[in-house]
Amino acid sequence: MKDSNFLKEHNGRLMWHPMTSPQDTIDNPPKIITGSEGVTITDIDGHKVVDGVGGLWNVNLGYSCQPVKDAMTAQLDKLPYYSTFRGTSNDAAIELSYELSEFFEPDGMSRAFFTSGGSDSVETALRLARQYHKLRGEAGRTKFLSLKKGYHGTHMGGASVNGNANFRTAYEPLLPGCFHIPAPYTYRNPFNETDPERLAQLCVQALEDEIAFQGANTIAAMIMEPILGAGGVIPPHKSFAPMVQEICNRNGILLITDEVITAYGRTGAWSGARLWGIQPDMMCTAKAITNGYFPFGAVMLGHRVVDVFEGNPSAKIGHGYTYSGHPVGAAAALACLAETKRLNVVDNAAARGDQLYAGCQALMAKYDIIGDVRGGHGLMTAIEMVSDRASKKPIDPIRAATVQEVAYQSGAMVRVSGPNLILSPPLILTEDDANILLSALDAGLAAA
Ligand code: PMP
Repeated sequence: MKDSNFLKEHNGRLMWHPMTSPQDTIDNPPKIITGSEGVTITDIDGHKVVDGVGGLWNVNLGYSCQPVKDAMTAQLDKLPYYSTFRGTSNDAAIELSYELSEFFEPDGMSRAFFTSGGSDSVETALRLARQYHKLRGEAGRTKFLSLKKGYHGTHMGGASVNGNANFRTAYEPLLPGCFHIPAPYTYRNPFNETDPERLAQLCVQALEDEIAFQGANTIAAMIMEPILGAGGVIPPHKSFAPMVQEICNRNGILLITDEVITAYGRTGAWSGARLWGIQPDMMCTAKAITNGYFPFGAVMLGHRVVDVFEGNPSAKIGHGYTYSGHPVGAAAALACLAETKRLNVVDNAAARGDQLYAGCQALMAKYDIIGDVRGGHGLMTAIEMVSDRASKKPIDPIRAATVQEVAYQSGAMVRVSGPNLILSPPLILTEDDANILLSALDAGLAAA
């Protein structure tokens, strides 16, 4: 590896970074992370911080997972790669499909389709939804519904159901036939409704209206995050997801939960579907499935989908990835799942999530630039920053960047996304780690 002067000299110059302007990366080179231990990361200058971002919502078990490393190394020695395309399989992928079918059985899932990440999982689910209806003789069901402010990755299908203009406008025209419903976002919504339960009703009414307007028999699926993540941690009222499920069922529309963030314990439940007591038709998972040790994902399939594809020899899946069921990824996922269960991370996610949520609410009492605090369901917490509370005008990006930088210097990596400060730390966070995050945030907010 080159020395630190070399790395600093070339940082930001030759690599285009996701979700960033290339010129901004040249002008403000990114932090170079070079080491990690437990829930902490270390930068090239030796500065060590608690990772309040958990990698990118994926490092649920922290950075020192020996069983995962061991499983991957053993698999690398044995079989570094073999495909699962027609005619071959591998032992790790078979075992993982067994474990996941069991893990997601309470959500009504019984089969897995493996992918290389979250965007792949979303693309897979959207495509299978269309094929499902074609196989049933309803080829006219091609449209997709989703929530404004939702995030579903960056492939063309996912971008088309995304509900944030930042990820869409530059890439239009996107997939035709995608329509967006208002999100149950209490702080800002077109109904000016501040009661979460009434807002949930208004949003499902909008969903019903859109279905009636489009014609139910033109709609393939509704995709939604159980708690909107990248859009700024937006948990709906508990009545929302069950009402959406009922409407989808009544109209023959498949319900896909995008659980790329929420599966595997982050919400304080094992899945977002279980958090809300629903049984979707497909679940998109990725991220924590391998804790960041390997790019991997799994779409879990419910009985309605399974029944239509199985028992029908002409239901050929014309979709898949070179790395679907990659044996090293599958070995990593098996070890992560075992650790996730052994450590029972859901309980800690719930307890530490409550601590962070309460801590952020205490910060809101102290700082006027906090307009809203959202969380209360495990380790997904957000602070929405405003220039002043009365106008709710989003905070100036330079001030938001100050919060992030001062928090970093004070011992915590936190994420700023638009006006939102997002906390999604590893689920093995301790009470002391959470206090470090909160006091670093306090310092950042004070500086801004
Ligand atoms: N869906 C959701 C809900 C996500 O949060 C993300 C990633 N943040 C994705 C899809 C896309 O996943 P990936 O970046 O692994 O492609």
